[in-house]
Amino acid sequence: MKEIILCKYGEMALKGLNRGWFENLLLKDIRSRLSNIGKFTIKNSQCTIYIEGEKIDEAFEELKTVFGLATLSRAAVVEKDIDVIKRTAAEYLPQFLDGIKTFRAEAKRSDKKFPLTSPQIAAEIGGAVLGVMPQLKVNLDNADVTVRAEIREQAAYIHAGQVKAAGGMPYASNGKGLVLLSGGIDSPVAAYMMARRGVVIEALHFESFPYTSERAREKVMELAGLLAVYCGKVKVHVLSVTKIQEELRKFCDEEYFTLLLRRFMMRLAQRTAQLYECNALITGESIGQVASQTMNAIEVTDAVVSIPVFRPCIGMDKDEIVHLARNIGTYETSILPYEDCCTVFTPRHPKTRPELEKVLEQEKLIDIETLENESFDGLFTKELRKF
Ligand code: ATP
Ligand code: MG
Repeated sequence: MKEIILCKYGEMALKGLNRGWFENLLLKDIRSRLSNIGKFTIKNSQCTIYIEGEKIDEAFEELKTVFGLATLSRAAVVEKDIDVIKRTAAEYLPQFLDGIKTFRAEAKRSDKKFPLTSPQIAAEIGGAVLGVMPQLKVNLDNADVTVRAEIREQAAYIHAGQVKAAGGMPYASNGKGLVLLSGGIDSPVAAYMMARRGVVIEALHFESFPYTSERAREKVMELAGLLAVYCGKVKVHVLSVTKIQEELRKFCDEEYFTLLLRRFMMRLAQRTAQLYECNALITGESIGQVASQTMNAIEVTDAVVSIPVFRPCIGMDKDEIVHLARNIGTYETSILPYEDCCTVFTPRHPKTRPELEKVLEQEKLIDIETLENESFDGLFTKELRKF
C-alpha cells in the first residue's frame, strides 16, 4: 500500500486569476524544504498538493510550518475498487484510532463514475473499521476522529482526518518587512504573524553594549533562527544605540528618555528598511501594554517615519501573545533573562501622554544627525538559515 501526504490550501484557493502565481510560490517553498529531506514527487491538482516519497514522517513535520497550507493528511492511495478500499480501511486506519472512543466515516466522490454513492462508501469504510475495532462507537455529531475516503480521478485516498497546518499565504507573496526584533516575547510573534501573511521578514536589533551583553545578542540570533523554521532564512541587522542612550541620559529629561530612544529606533529602522528594500516596519507593540505603547506615545513615535509601521499584536492581550509564542516555539527563548537596551536607563516616571512639541524641544538638545549616522555606520548583518 502506498502512503502519501495530501495538503490543502487555505485562503489561496479563493484567489482568481492570480492563483497560479501563489501556487508557484507555495510549490517552490515546499520543494526547497523537502529537497533537504529526500526525494519526493510533488503534484498539484484542484487545490490539493499530493506528496509522495520515502521519508513521509519527516516531510509531514516539515510541512506543518509551510505558510499557505491549511490542512495536511496522511493517506493511503489505492485503486478505485470498493473491496480494496474496505480492506485498506481495515488495515490502514486503526493506527490513527488508537485510544479513541468514537468515530464517524465520511466519503467524497469527485469521480461520479464510481458505482457507489458517498453515503454508501462511508458506510462501507465505517463497517470495515468496526470489523477490526469493535470497541469503537459511531458518533455522527461529535466524533473523536473522522475517517474519510476520497474517490478522485486518479485514485482513492483513505485517511483519518486532517491536521491543521500553518495557514496564511505563501511565503514571499507579499513584500518585505523589517521587524524590530528585541529579545522579548512580542516581536517574534509579530514577525511570525506578518510572515504568515506572505511578508518576507528581515530583522533589526538594537543593542547597547556593554549595558547589554553578548548573550543578549545571541538570544536574538536564536529567535531569528526559530523564525527561519518558517521563513527559510532571516537576515538580522544589528545597530548599537549605546552612544545615543548615553547622550540622552546626559542632556535630556528623564521622563522622555524611552520615547526619544524609540524615535531614534524608528528613524534608524527606516534607514535600514530603505537600504535593504523593505516596504514596511513591524513591531511587537500592543496598545496600552507599557508606557511607550499608549495611543499618544505611538503617535509621537510614528511621527518620525514615513513608511508604514505594522503592529500585528496591537489588539492582543498579553496572554494571547504568550499563547501564540508557545505555539510557534519562540516563548522559551524569549523568556531567557537577558537585558534589552530598552530596559537600561529606564525612566522612573515615563511620559504616557507625551506632547510632540515637548519631544521636539528635547531633541534640540542633542545632535540627532551625527548620533544617527554614527550608529548606522556600525551596521552589522548576519543571516540565519534553515533551508
Ligand atoms: P517585546 O516583547 O517584543 O520585547 P515589549 O513588550 O517588551 O516587546 P517594548 O520593549 O516597549 O515592548 O518594545 C516594543 C517594540 O519595540 C518591540 O516589540 C520591538 O518591536 C521593538 N523593540 C524594543 N526593543 C528593541 C530592540 N532592542 N531591538 C529592536 N527592536 C526593539
Ligand atoms: Mg522588550
